[in-house]
Order: sequence, then structure tokens, then C-alpha cells
Amino acid sequence: MQSNNSLSRFLARSTRAFAAFALSAGVALGSTGAAHAQRVPIVRDAEIEALVRDYARPILKAAGLANSNINIVLVNDPAFNAFVAGRRIFINTGTLMTSETPNEVIGVLAHEAGHIAGGHQERLRDQLARAQTMAIVAALLGAGAMVAGAASDTNGLGAAGAGIMTGGSEMARRSLLGYQRSEEATADRSAITYLNATGQSAQGMLKTFQRFQSALSLSGARVDPYQVSHPMPRERIANLETLAHQSPNFGKTDSEALQLRHDMMRVKIAVYTQGQAAASRLLRNNAGGLAARYGDAQATYLFGDLRSALSKTDALIKSQPKNAYFHELRGDILMKSNKAAAAAESYATAVRLDPAKSGILPIQLGQAYLAVGTPDALKKAVIEVRKGLDRDRENAAGYRYLAQAYGMLGDVADADLATADGHYYSGAYQDAKIFAMRAQMKMPRGSPGWVRAQDIINYKAPSKKKK
Ligand SMILES: [Zn+2]
Repeated sequence: MQSNNSLSRFLARSTRAFAAFALSAGVALGSTGAAHAQRVPIVRDAEIEALVRDYARPILKAAGLANSNINIVLVNDPAFNAFVAGRRIFINTGTLMTSETPNEVIGVLAHEAGHIAGGHQERLRDQLARAQTMAIVAALLGAGAMVAGAASDTNGLGAAGAGIMTGGSEMARRSLLGYQRSEEATADRSAITYLNATGQSAQGMLKTFQRFQSALSLSGARVDPYQVSHPMPRERIANLETLAHQSPNFGKTDSEALQLRHDMMRVKIAVYTQGQAAASRLLRNNAGGLAARYGDAQATYLFGDLRSALSKTDALIKSQPKNAYFHELRGDILMKSNKAAAAAESYATAVRLDPAKSGILPIQLGQAYLAVGTPDALKKAVIEVRKGLDRDRENAAGYRYLAQAYGMLGDVADADLATADGHYYSGAYQDAKIFAMRAQMKMPRGSPGWVRAQDIINYKAPSKKKK
């Protein structure tokens, strides 16, 4: 059984991803054909996904792009990047770390929504909408980062960062969602409209783009992918500045509650990806605040004494009893302390309190039941993991836990089908088919499981276009 390491779960990379397309000539996305056991640095975290979804929802609605089922894809990358493809928003952890206020992230999302509403790069966007999440991230990072990431479990961030700078991935990124200057002006104007419609300031967007503009003039400064795809000449920033100041909302700031959630998100990313010192630096102006205490509790859990981490987390829960993610952290600490039954109780509370109904939390609860290991607990594990997968169909790790629970219950057919699904959603189609065939042999023809296995067997991976 896999050890429950929250750090590795936070940085939950798919065990097997498939570089399902290579970029060439800007818009042609075709499969590379070969499946490699590669790791994609996707971060799964219920709290952060919910927050970014809350940032995006009103903006997308104002842009006429309302989609209740928005997937947030967090890419573990310190560079600044964000784009929207179909119902998925790809955003680098670096973007969230760099942005001091929610308004800065919201501004970037508003600008991206402006590109979509303007029909910019529509063809590429359509292809991205159909492509698998893993494949897009693979293209985003380039093969160099992928290989580097696979080589190191514990230092994925640094490894990914090193890969980013390789020439090949730079070329790939330049061609991915690159915009014309005229499109930038349109997207800026649309963004201001959406921000006004939702009563928000354009200050954050302006601040972000001004930072890029000044960074461009510094020789030797790192050029973030976002800068490459969104040209930021001086006159664009000047025009944006005029528009932003004209807005009646310019002086508005984010609500205190939203800023607190933002700070807690930033401190979490800092602790998990850069360690305790980075988190302390981030909140040195508010060292005794709730976000700083949250960071301290997480750092203590990851790098320090578990009993101390538990008492710090209990104090957090006292401050905000209904914060689902404090209970989640409590569950993580108890799991690491080999107290699976108690962990299950904390995760169950987190599931109950989670306003965003994330699939991640029930899967964690299922994992705790799996660790308890009694027949009764294993049945509960199946129920909870399935609930999580219903909400989060592409959660490859969830299928592994489901397979484990079925296996321990002696249900080999369902275990094989869950393994097949896990491979399928990781893009490892050959392995998926092998397990689907194995599952089918043990299932009544035409039963729901049999039909699902048949779907996997029949699936045709997007193939490379012949030149
Ligand atoms: Zn742009």
C-alpha cells in the first residue's frame, strides 16, 4: 500500500501521463504516439481549486461564458502563466504566489476571458478543449521539464523550473496561445467591462501587467511564459492605465474574507513547494495572523513534530470551526501519525463542511478507510472513493485507491476495472485496455462494468497526423 504522504499528494502527479500531442506550426496538435511513463506536475488541492473557481465564476458569467462546471488545473510551476481552454482554467502556482491580492488573479482571468469572448486563437482553443489535461500540461512544460520532473519526486518544483528554460519547451510555449497586439487591446477592454460588471477594480490587472512591462526592460530577468504569449508594449499599458482609472471601481479592494483565503492559499503553496522560510517571508507583515498560523501548522506537519502540528491545527479549528481545510489538515496529520480511524473522522468533517463539494476530500476519506482496513471500513472506502470520482472523474489516484479497496474485498473484477480506469485517465491507454479485458472476462456480458470496460477497449487515442 502506498504511504500517505501529504506532500506527495499535494504535488500529486499522475504516475503515467502521455505526451498526447506535440506542438508544431503553432496550431497543429497531434499525438507523439509513444506513451512514456512521465510525471505531470499537476497540483491537486481542494482549497486552492475552490478559491480559483470562486475568482473565475463571476468573471466568466459577465463574459457570457458561464459554465458551472469549471475545472481548475493547478500547474506546479514557479513561472507566471494562466490560460483558459474549454471548461478548464490552467494556472501556475507561480501566478498565485506572485499575486498579493485576489484582484490580481481575477484581473488576469478577466483578461483571459476577454481573449475567449473575442474569439482569439479559437482553433487552438478548440483543440485544447478536446485534449486531455495531462497532454496540455505536457505541451505547456515541454519534454525537458517532463523528464526532469520524473527524475525527482521530492524536488519536482526545481526540476520543472530547470526544464522550463530549455529551448525546446520555449518554442512550444511561444506557439501556445500567442496573441496579436490588437487582440491584447481588445482583451484588455473586455476585461475592464467584466470587472466593472462585477463591481471589481482593474487595479490588480494593471499592477500585474505593469510588473511584466518593467520586467521586460530588465536584461537578464526571467521571461515568464505569460509575457511571451501576451505582448506588453508600453502603449498598451498606458492605455490600460487610462481605462482602469476611469472605472468607478478603481479604488475598490477585495473583501477581507477573500483576502484571508488568498493569503492562506499563498502560504500553503509556499510551505509545500518552497518550505517554511519562504512561507514566513511571505507573511512577515502579519506574522500572528490566521494565514501565518496556518502556514506554521502545515510546516510543523511536514517538517516537524506531529503532536505539535495537531495542537496548532486544533487551535486553527477553534478560530474557524467551519473551515473544511483545517479539518483536512487535521486528517493529514492523523494519517501520518498512523491514526487512520481518527483521520477518517476529520476527513468526514471536511467532506461535510466543504462548500465546493470537491472530489478530492471524499477520496482522502476513502484512503483513510482503506488504511483502517477492516471489511466494514473497506466497504466505506469504496463508497467514498466512488463519491469522489463521481465529482472528479479524471482523478487517477482515486482509481488506484478504489482498485485497492476492491482488491482487499476480494472483488477482482471491479479492482481490474478501476485499474483500467486509472490508466485510462492517466492517458496510458495500452495498460487501460489490458486491465479492461481482464475485468470483462470476470463480468456478465452487458453489465454496466462490462460496458465501461468495452468503452475503454474501443477507445482510440488521438493519433498523429501523417505529414
Ligand atoms: Zn492577452
